[in-house]
Amino acid sequence: FQEDPFFWKDHNVQVIIRIRPLNNSEMSLQGYNKCIRQDSCQSITWTGHPESRFTFDLVADENVSQENLFKVAGLPMVDNCMGGYNSCMFAYGQTGSGKTHTMLGDIEGGTRRHSVNCGMTPRVFESLFSRIQKEKESRREEKLRFTCKCSFLEIYNEQILDLLDPSIVNLQIREDAKRGVYVENLKEVEVTSARDVIQQLVQGAANRKVAATNMNLASSRSHSVFTCVIESKWESQGVTHHRFARLNLVDLAGSERQKSSGAEGERLKEATNINKSLSTLGLVIMNLVSVSNGKSLHVPYRDSKLTFLLQDSLGGNSKTSIIANISPSNCCSLETLSTLKFAQRAK
Ligand code: ADP
Ligand code: MG
Repeated sequence: FQEDPFFWKDHNVQVIIRIRPLNNSEMSLQGYNKCIRQDSCQSITWTGHPESRFTFDLVADENVSQENLFKVAGLPMVDNCMGGYNSCMFAYGQTGSGKTHTMLGDIEGGTRRHSVNCGMTPRVFESLFSRIQKEKESRREEKLRFTCKCSFLEIYNEQILDLLDPSIVNLQIREDAKRGVYVENLKEVEVTSARDVIQQLVQGAANRKVAATNMNLASSRSHSVFTCVIESKWESQGVTHHRFARLNLVDLAGSERQKSSGAEGERLKEATNINKSLSTLGLVIMNLVSVSNGKSLHVPYRDSKLTFLLQDSLGGNSKTSIIANISPSNCCSLETLSTLKFAQRAK
């Protein structure tokens, strides 16, 4: 297991900004006017008033391909998993900023390999399974075995829905000494190839759409969490060894401020829940950074379902990456600033 030379050198949280290309409607409204200027591959300036400069682990501009983003952010995750560390990758940003493009991208092509737009998750698993195959071959005498089980859920309005089995609703989070934090009755599917994973992703994405229609909600208001538990077993000198790694890939609800003014009943509750879960996530991540700098704050994991669920994968030796997606257009200036500030707090 080789540490990436660039990522996770000094602490366990990495923050990447991804700028998407201007889209047609932004160009027709604002021409090429942008609210940001990229200064280097680690620094970006918000050009509103007053100008503000931000520094991150990486600023990926609109020319960074899905493949290159995977190489810098995804490959180290695969290394973590192979090394037995838990990992989380979050896509943060306003609706339309590129979160789903980043995490899933074009998966409708199914198992066709290397569609240029295929996103982070399929690429991570393609790489993971090929690493597993190599390890098994090189450690044949240790009888190395891997079992990978995945699950896919959605958190909407602080309720958990199983995207692999939508007949089960309102799942509960439980905690026990042996299993740690887990979701009771959540469907787990064993996967043995990237093809299997993509099949589950496609199924889950389709169920997410149906659920959104049934509940009259936009998927932009829910978090989706794809988790894979990788268990390895091997023998050495007559002793059997076990190792677990949990990999979580999270497409967060849109970070645009949910209007609570004028909203009532369900809509108000929903707006409050989204704002709360994103701000709790921000606090939890901020605290992870303080801990690696030797300070510790109170960590409010239980304040939201999302952070409670991911508790065992955030903190300790776990690795976290945040990909904060932004639009470069003047149309999105304030939301872009707010995303840059969120991402900055995680540094
Ligand atoms: P979100 O999930 O944050 O709401 P999407 O991922 O759906 O946003 O992106 C909105 C639109 O912008 C989609 O049509 C997507 O294909 C496009 N898009 C987003 N990021 C990029 C990118 N880096 N390169 C090309 N197109 C992108
Ligand atoms: Mg999306």
